[in-house]
Formats: sequence, C-alpha cells, structure tokens
Amino acid sequence: MSAALSLDAWKSQASSLSYRNQAFIDGKYVDAASGETFDCINPATGEVLTKVAAGDKADIDRAVKAARTAFEKGSWSQMAPAKRKKILQKFADLIEKHGTELALLETLDMGKPIRDSSSIDIPGSANCIRWYGEALDKIYDEIAPTGPEAVAMIRREPVGVVGAVVPWNFPLMMAAWKIGPALATGNSMVLKPAEQSPLTAIRIAELAAEAGIPDGVFNVVPGFGETAGQAIGRHMDVDCVTFTGSAEVGKYFLKYSGESNMKRVSLECGGKTPNIIMADAPDLDAAATAAAWGIFFNQGEVCNAGSRLIVEESIKDQVIEKVMAVAEKLRPGDPLDPKTRMGAIVDKTQMERVLGYIEAGKGEGAKLRMGGGRVNTDKGGFFIEPTLFDEVDNKMKIAQEEIFGPVLSTISFKDADEAIRIGNDTIYGLAAAVWTRDITKAHKAARALRAGVVWVNCFDAGDITSPFGGFKQSGFGRDKSLHAMDKYTELKTTWINVGA
Ligand code: NAP
Ligand code: MG
Repeated sequence: MSAALSLDAWKSQASSLSYRNQAFIDGKYVDAASGETFDCINPATGEVLTKVAAGDKADIDRAVKAARTAFEKGSWSQMAPAKRKKILQKFADLIEKHGTELALLETLDMGKPIRDSSSIDIPGSANCIRWYGEALDKIYDEIAPTGPEAVAMIRREPVGVVGAVVPWNFPLMMAAWKIGPALATGNSMVLKPAEQSPLTAIRIAELAAEAGIPDGVFNVVPGFGETAGQAIGRHMDVDCVTFTGSAEVGKYFLKYSGESNMKRVSLECGGKTPNIIMADAPDLDAAATAAAWGIFFNQGEVCNAGSRLIVEESIKDQVIEKVMAVAEKLRPGDPLDPKTRMGAIVDKTQMERVLGYIEAGKGEGAKLRMGGGRVNTDKGGFFIEPTLFDEVDNKMKIAQEEIFGPVLSTISFKDADEAIRIGNDTIYGLAAAVWTRDITKAHKAARALRAGVVWVNCFDAGDITSPFGGFKQSGFGRDKSLHAMDKYTELKTTWINVGA
C-alpha cells in the first residue's frame, strides 16, 4: 500500500485530506439530532482536525430503529450467504483500496505511527472482514442424534440488532473484530467509536454502503460514552452488546443490561499481562526485544501489553540492560514520519494518567531505570518516553492497575512456581507469556496461567484464526476465529415429529 511514502508525502496527503464527521444512519450521513458536535483532536499537535457529530440517545434510537427495520425486512439477514460473502469481500477490498487515506485518518486521530496504521491496522481490519466473509458460507448447521421418531435441527440464527462500543487504541481494528462476525452472521449493527478516535469508523460506513450492505444494516454513531454508549447499553431493542474497553466501563454494560432488556453482553476488557522470562529462555536477546516491543508498541496503549516483566533473578540485570538497549531506539516522534516507531499518547487526559502512574511508582519505592517523562513538548502534542521500573513489588499500584502507556514494571522471581503465582496475582487474565527451553516447564506454565492466550517463546503473536479475549476481569466472550460468531448467533432447535 503506502508504507514506502516519505514524511513529506504523508504530510502533503494529510494536508489535502477531507473528513467525514457525521453519524451514518440508515444509509445516510446525518448531523446529531441535537446539532451538537465535539472537537476531534490530533494528539501529536493538539490541533482540532474537525468537529464531529455528538450523537446521543436520540441518534442511537434512530440508528437502532433503522437497524431493526433492516433486520426485519431481511435485506441482509435473509440474503443468500454466497451473496453476503461477496459483499463483505468487496467491503474489505474497499478498505484496502482506501488504505492510505484510512491509515492517515487513524494516525492523525489517535497518534499511532503511520508505519503501524498503514501496515497493521488497516490491512488487518480488511483481512478480518474478508476472513469472516469467506467463512460464512462454509459453516453448516447440525442435526441432533435423536431417536427415529424425530428430526431435530439445530440452526444458528442472527441475534438481531448488535450494538458495538469500541476503544481508541486500535480504532478500526477493534471495530473490525466486531463488524466481521456480526455482519457475517446476518445481524444489523450500531457502532459507537470512542470519542478520541471516530474518523475511520465514520469513513468506512460509506464504503460498506458502496460495497452493497443495505441501508440500516451498518450504522455508525459517534458520541460520548455516558450518552451514546449508555443509550446502546440500555436500549430495549438492542439484542446484544459487544464491547471492548476498560473493565470499569465493561461492568457498566452488565448493569445496563440487567436494568433494561437483559441483552446479551460480551466484554473485552483490560489486562496486566505477565511476560515471564526464565533463566533457561532459548534466546535472551529475542526475549528482551519482544519484552520491549511488548510494552512500547502502540505507546503501550495495548490491552495485552506486557506491562509486567517477570524475570528470573539470576538473569534480571542482563535482561533489563537488553530491554533498555532496544527501548533506546524507540524515542517517540512525529507519527507521520515513516521512521517513527512510537507516536503520541491519545490525549492529554491519558497522558496525565500515565504520568500519574509513573509518580506513583516512584512514590511506592520502585526504581526508575529509564524514561519517566513527557517529551517533544515543543510540538504541542502528548508524548511520553519509554519508561522502565526495576525492583517492583507485585502489590504496587504500577503492577496491579492497567496503565495503558509505555511503562514497564520489572519483578523478579526465584522459581517457576513463584513466577506463576505472581503472574496470576492480578484481577486480569487477558494474556500471558513464558520463555523457557524446557518443554515441561512451558506446558505447566501454559496450563497454570489464567489467561485467554498464553504465548510460549514469543509475545503478542497470533492471527485472525485464533480466539482472543480474557479470563477474570479481562471480560468474557472471544473476538477473532470462528468462535466469535457464537456471540452474534442464537441456537434454535426445531424438533419435527416424524414418528406419527
Ligand atoms: P473505555 O474508557 O472503557 O471506553 C471504551 C468505550 O466505552 C468508548 O467508546 C467509550 O466512549 C465508551 N464508554 C465510556 N464510558 C461509558 C459509559 N459510561 N457507558 C457506555 N459507554 C462508555 O476504554 P478506552 O479508554 O477507550 O480504551 C482503553 C481500554 O480498552 C483499556 O482498558 C484496554 O485494556 C481496553 N482494551 C481491551 C481490548 C481487548 O480486546 N481486551 C482491546 C483494546 C482495548 P467514549 O470514550 O467515546 O466516551
Ligand atoms: Mg483524535
């Protein structure tokens, strides 16, 4: 696509970019019913990119009505699978075709390096939607093994209207993980992007329409969590909420459901991933490089960021030196520069939150070995340097709470049992990693670690074929893989008496 463009070329494209900034409801861009807007800010400069429609309850009502009408009409829900497949594939093609523009929107909107948005976020989102498009006409229903007097068919049906509420760290990709399986299974959707990063979601709505997704099937309503997000959660005619975000807000959605129509909820929430490096790791350079990338990639704004480096005492100093050597090269820079590997923190609030955790770490007695400060202040943006703490106790705030920034806490252990115990000693269970050349130790650790994914001798590996999601307060339900389709389908048994 566009990875080969220079900084000047990206800048010139950025200067001629136009922004879609309204809600997309029933096949049309519309203002919020209230006429309200909010500022969409570029976190690398602090400048306002555009003003975006601030959708609220009235707009969610309109979008849900359109989604329900389309669902009942069957224009998508009853479409032949082979046709639905073609449309989703075209949707994926269009995302790819507009990859340069979408990558720019993502980078300008939330501060991630253009290198990543153009090579990971946008192609990954297109791939996800295409994968579910391809899968949808290859899944068969079941006939139950009843006695001869009956035929019992077990069919999957779409749940109906799906409300998707997503975060700002991978704005399009987190949305695609919902859009792919929800649309592939025949549902209608209302998507609410995060207020910090609504631009790509708004833009792809018209690409969905261009691909042939009928009016009302895919709606996008930008707005605030407390208004638009809550309205989705409490809506009496939304059948299912699929959420990615913090555990705190995830819990609100459970409450909204219980206080409204008992809608199905699936939650992909935060993490405090233990990255356990044993002294017998096969390659310490590889482990340290992965540890650095595992926390500093995407400015540390990653739900499965390896924020706890749990390392065997005998190799700790060596590993820290190696991690710091890699991190040295990851100085935050202009997200539009293709050489930049770390960009801006998404907004001022998040930057202050991260800096607050760094202060808390120092206050609790952890030893700051690297970074710890705001940088590039002359650019007007929100940048934090890669930060590493040593001598962290797992009870400290920086080891227990999700920081969602480039801050690594190093904790040492003496034996494998202690490593597992520390690894599991958190409210979260999204991911974990273990580095060892001992296959028995690796298997034991993989079984004992309470997490939705355990990496052995790698970090943050995976693709669309494997499920992703959490144990404990990292939530429940899985994105990616065929398992994600479970969230968006109801099982129906049709029992036919043939014994008469
Ligand atoms: P967040 O504050 O929980 O927000 C997520 C979404 O929920 C946003 O669209 C937000 O809207 C909305 N929201 C906020 N308050 C709400 C409320 N009271 N009612 C209904 N909706 C509400 O999370 P974030 O700060 O955007 O993202 C960071 C979090 O996402 C981290 O905890 C991270 O671990 C998690 N995450 C998890 C995964 C995973 O797969 N497990 C992946 C990525 C991120 P507004 O922001 O527009 O107000
Ligand atoms: Mg923004």
